[in-house]
Amino acid sequence: MNFEGKRKQLVEFLKSSGAVKSKAVEKAFSKVRREAFVPDAYAEHAYADDALPTNLGQTISQPSTIAIMLEILDAKEGMKVLEVGSGSGYVLALLSEIVGKEGKVVGIEFLHELAEKSREILAKENAGNAKVYEGDGGKGVESEKPFDRILVSAACPFIPKPLFDQLKEGGRIVAPVGDKHTQALQIMKKINGKVGKEEYMGGYFVFVPLRGEHGWK
Ligand code: SAH
Repeated sequence: MNFEGKRKQLVEFLKSSGAVKSKAVEKAFSKVRREAFVPDAYAEHAYADDALPTNLGQTISQPSTIAIMLEILDAKEGMKVLEVGSGSGYVLALLSEIVGKEGKVVGIEFLHELAEKSREILAKENAGNAKVYEGDGGKGVESEKPFDRILVSAACPFIPKPLFDQLKEGGRIVAPVGDKHTQALQIMKKINGKVGKEEYMGGYFVFVPLRGEHGWK
């Protein structure tokens, strides 16, 4: 399987569809080996623009959805970024490229097996600035705060308050907010310690629901 060629094709597709806009996001998608993060049985589909299953009934989001989220997250070199629901570690690996060696990415995943597996893969793929925690990410990762950016990769009824508390001044959170069936991407900024600006991106998405204290009961 010619993964390099397929990866290039996917990047070209994401650019032509408008999902990838910046050089930083383009570079990340060009570099990270998605085939390393999907179960072996799906490796040959790694570069289709589709969501793929992980081993535990969770999914690795569709590349175009990830690209849209990363563009509006607008993480920059040297930043510290948290991803809630880091699953396979694929998005963390993309973020790790975007923030570079001076930056740091922190993931938190609810499911033990996924967290373990993602640590193994991220180490193999040389994402040395990535660290994965296990637990209820709706509570953030108190020991690692504050964050310049927070990306929520699971659907939530509202942006959990602890995430806002762990955000740096001037920082932003991107999260799929809505009901259990469809969500819109919400962007929340912290300005003078308060919710400065809230925007919703048009279009609808379907994410795996957030579990834990800040998910649906
Ligand atoms: N970004 C991931 C895929 C996200 S799917 C990737 O690149 O593979 C959403 C993930 O959120 C699932 O793995 C699910 O187990 C996790 N999740 C759901 N609720 C959570 C919570 N409260 N805290 C942490 N992770 C959670």
